[in-house]
Amino acid sequence: MTITGQPGPARGPVPAPARAAGTPPLAERMRAFGTTIFAEMSALATRTGSINLGQGFPDTDGPEEVLAAARQAISDGHNQYPPGRGIPELRQAIAADRERRRGQRFDPETEVLVTAGATEAITAAVLALCEAGDEVIALEPTYDSYAASIALAGARLVPVRLEPPDFGVDLDRLAAAITPRTRLLLINTPHNPTGRVLDEQELAGIARLAVAHDLLVITDEVYEHLVYDGEHLPLARFPGMAERTITVSSAGKTFAVTGWKIGWACARPELITAITTTKQFLTYVNGAPFQWAVATGLGLPDSVITTIRDDLRAGRDLLADGLRAAGLEPFRCQGTYFLTVDVARLGFDDGLDFCRRLPELCGVVAVPSRVFYTDPGPAASFVRFAFCKRPAVLSAAAERLATLSPR
Ligand SMILES: *Cc1c(COP(=O)(O)O)cnc(C)c1O
Repeated sequence: MTITGQPGPARGPVPAPARAAGTPPLAERMRAFGTTIFAEMSALATRTGSINLGQGFPDTDGPEEVLAAARQAISDGHNQYPPGRGIPELRQAIAADRERRRGQRFDPETEVLVTAGATEAITAAVLALCEAGDEVIALEPTYDSYAASIALAGARLVPVRLEPPDFGVDLDRLAAAITPRTRLLLINTPHNPTGRVLDEQELAGIARLAVAHDLLVITDEVYEHLVYDGEHLPLARFPGMAERTITVSSAGKTFAVTGWKIGWACARPELITAITTTKQFLTYVNGAPFQWAVATGLGLPDSVITTIRDDLRAGRDLLADGLRAAGLEPFRCQGTYFLTVDVARLGFDDGLDFCRRLPELCGVVAVPSRVFYTDPGPAASFVRFAFCKRPAVLSAAAERLATLSPR
């Protein structure tokens, strides 16, 4: 804006750069991103009538109290643009939740921002904090939106691989990935797709490196409540981290309402102000009635969330048995919606090939983990199955999978 009388950025016609004839319409920085594998695999599931364990969304609704609160909010007329940072009631509920469940203190006025899902929180943060050419280190395999956000910012993704069987963070490898261009660490725990929950020693090591190199950190904790063994520890609570960490979470996974797209970022005021500056031009705001419903949800007794978690743990165990019966021993999964297997055990060295054939082999759809890597290497034969489905669906899938046998 130019209200101070200072000249603003030049507006008006700028000569278009020459585009060669036949150049595809998609901007170069996005060309690596075609249709996602989830779209391909979901279409395959529909076409073949297969059980879709590809994309991670629950096939049941969230808690009735939370759904009722959304209906009530619509009836009560909460249907116009909410405040840019989110309704105060939700920001207060988020701050109270972080304090009660995680021992973290945030001022709801200045340190909490409601976003269109965790996805927007992460994208807005990367766009707000990175200059073109900056490097962003992320644990690989990476959730699919990370690489795209980093590309949109003109920054560069520097992957640090988590290796099977335990998918732990190799701190030497992480240290070696840090350069003078490193701006951000993008950490995800509980980790999608591996199901790994980072432990105290790993998080302390990450924190030491972030402090030593004065890095900002985004921590994607959308599965913070979906931990089946172990304990979720927030990275922002480690020494020196509160001032440099943007903690991201979302109602989608916690309350099994992934279509609502209510997420949030919590951080020190200067960081939240920077992220808000970008966020206001992405969506401005979203989901007014759902913001009220999530505020209600966060205030409900813990049993609401622990019931969802316990049902998911049972789902994990049911699907794991089916995979074992097929000769596919899953890697340990401590949290999230996903089990990973290595289909090399069935004679496939390419998980994509396996996933394309799985509907015809046994009527189930999964996704190849290679899509979560810049260069999959030995992970090319890994496949991810979602278990956030009803018990009847998982039993049917387990029975079908059990008919697979080594080639
Ligand atoms: C589902 C998911 C997200 C996206 O959350 P939304 O709130 O739906 O935007 C972000 N990160 C990870 C690791 C996820 O699995």
